[in-house]
Amino acid sequence: MRAEDFLEHSKWIDGPEFLYDSENKWPKLGVKYDSLPVADAEIKKDVTVNAVVEEAKNPTSFFISYFSSWMKLKTSVAWVLKLKELLLQLSQKRKEFSDMMHESAEDANIKEQKVLQKMQQFKTMLKIQCLTSEDLTAAEHFIILFEQHHRFEPEISALRANKTVSKDSQLYRLDPVIDDGVLRVGGRLKRAAMPFEIKHPVILCKNMHVATLILRYIHHLLGHAGRSHMLSRLRRKYWIISANSAARKILSDCVTCRRNRGKLLEQKMADLPQERKQDLYLKRRWKQVQYMAELFWKRWITEYLPLLHERQKWMRQKRNISPGDIVLIADATAPRGCWQMGRVLAVKADGGGLVRSVQLQTKTSVLERPVTKLCLLLEASAD
Ligand SMILES: [Zn+2]
Repeated sequence: MRAEDFLEHSKWIDGPEFLYDSENKWPKLGVKYDSLPVADAEIKKDVTVNAVVEEAKNPTSFFISYFSSWMKLKTSVAWVLKLKELLLQLSQKRKEFSDMMHESAEDANIKEQKVLQKMQQFKTMLKIQCLTSEDLTAAEHFIILFEQHHRFEPEISALRANKTVSKDSQLYRLDPVIDDGVLRVGGRLKRAAMPFEIKHPVILCKNMHVATLILRYIHHLLGHAGRSHMLSRLRRKYWIISANSAARKILSDCVTCRRNRGKLLEQKMADLPQERKQDLYLKRRWKQVQYMAELFWKRWITEYLPLLHERQKWMRQKRNISPGDIVLIADATAPRGCWQMGRVLAVKADGGGLVRSVQLQTKTSVLERPVTKLCLLLEASAD
């Protein structure tokens, strides 16, 4: 087509004329879309598939995940193991008594009654049991064995077959060894004059529930200590893979630590009022000039990085505080230990949806406070 023809035929540019009329005046097509046969092979059929995935939990796993305290878990497992031992002992005794009765020529019912009598006598002779530190150590050994076999099955099988673990395994770099069924860190410290448990700590993984329990136990044992102190104590006995991030999680979730050391909340800065804009423009230009001059003279990238970070603080949007959150209310006239706690009743957001102030219910009254005077203790969703 030539350019002249193209310009003459306005249909190419403006579309067909009927499009300018209302829809009921448009020409009708002879095809009825709803009259197509259902069995037409060309028609694409919609298939809906629903799948429910449910992870079958081993009863022992369920038992372990039920506890939120390492000591309570160990104590409960120790009692279960004691009960198991006792039941085994009773079953052995019953077998012994049955064997003794087997040779007498009495009736089967009488024999059974005699065995029951002897069992009753035996039970009265049993002493009241209490837990010892050996029982707790055995319980700990049992829990560790179970968790390691559950999580590191391929590695344990390889080591038992006198092979090395796969290079893809996360344990490869730890040179793992098996001692008394427990997977421990290997290495070259065999001859070092150190306790065995420090030379070869037990391997755990941060996703294991017991790893969280052990870290939380150490954190409480050390009086809510910081990360490094926790990790140095942990490594006397255990080696948790990615322990650093696991410890950080424990610290950030600990309500007592938030209460003692948590920062006050902050939110991205709001827009300035109209009358400040011109003023701000000049200030910003002056700051830029100053900033460039500083860069020119110092020429040290490390010197302006902290400055950059300080500026970014106001640019980032933070999590909005929401109703139900538990907070500590900062009070400049009182020491931190005397600050009141409160529950957020309602929030007030600005035009951009960022919460600036909240209504709080304290023990005695209802208050309104800006978010910068609050320290978050517990998120509402964590209830
Ligand atoms: Zn703490």
